[in-house]
Amino acid sequence: MMGNSVMKPKVIFVLGAPGAGKGTQCSKIVSDFGYVHLSAGELLRKETTKPNSKHGELIENCLKDGKIVPVEISCSLLKNAMLQSKKKKFLIDGFPRNEDNVEGWGKDVADHVDLQFVLFFDCPLEECIKRCLKRGAEGSGRTDDNEETLKKRIETYLSETSPIIKYYNILKIAYTIDASKDPDEVYRDVKEIMIKYNRK
Ligand code: UDP
Ligand code: MG
Repeated sequence: MMGNSVMKPKVIFVLGAPGAGKGTQCSKIVSDFGYVHLSAGELLRKETTKPNSKHGELIENCLKDGKIVPVEISCSLLKNAMLQSKKKKFLIDGFPRNEDNVEGWGKDVADHVDLQFVLFFDCPLEECIKRCLKRGAEGSGRTDDNEETLKKRIETYLSETSPIIKYYNILKIAYTIDASKDPDEVYRDVKEIMIKYNRK
């Protein structure tokens, strides 16, 4: 990921509480705007299914405990996925989630990409919990869509991820979207922001 600034891959960070609808909205953005959707959580889950993964067990434990894996792991998964895609526009979903993530990304990747902005999906936590439990009951197959892990994920979100979102707000690069409505209604607002701020 080198070259002058006009050639840098574009990145949009997509943040919000578990169940805020990041993944759902990212799929919609992909079809309209041609971004590549990279979910840090999905990449981690995929890593745990690889028989020879160096970090499989550590990742699995973090997932189950709602904890955030060391940035070296998530960042290198993201970096590899970006490089392998050979594409130039990325929605990075569910990352960065804490200070360690921001620092690691800053050391390793930030200078090589053009961070366009941050989409923050703002949704009341009770609604988020409801959605995740529904997703679990409908067979998401995720080890973390259960009441016990969800509680920990919310705690992690409040103590570690919220401050990161505040930080991007202070930098004035975050756009907040009301994510409590149904997906199509939320997407109307997303689309408006994408059209307005997505630089060519
Ligand atoms: N996770 C992590 N680092 C990341 C992204 C995710 O450690 O950069 C882990 C963390 O344990 C989190 C889980 O993956 O609770 C699920 O994340 P995902 O974004 O898939 O969940 P969502 O927020 O979409 O419900
Ligand atoms: Mg997700």
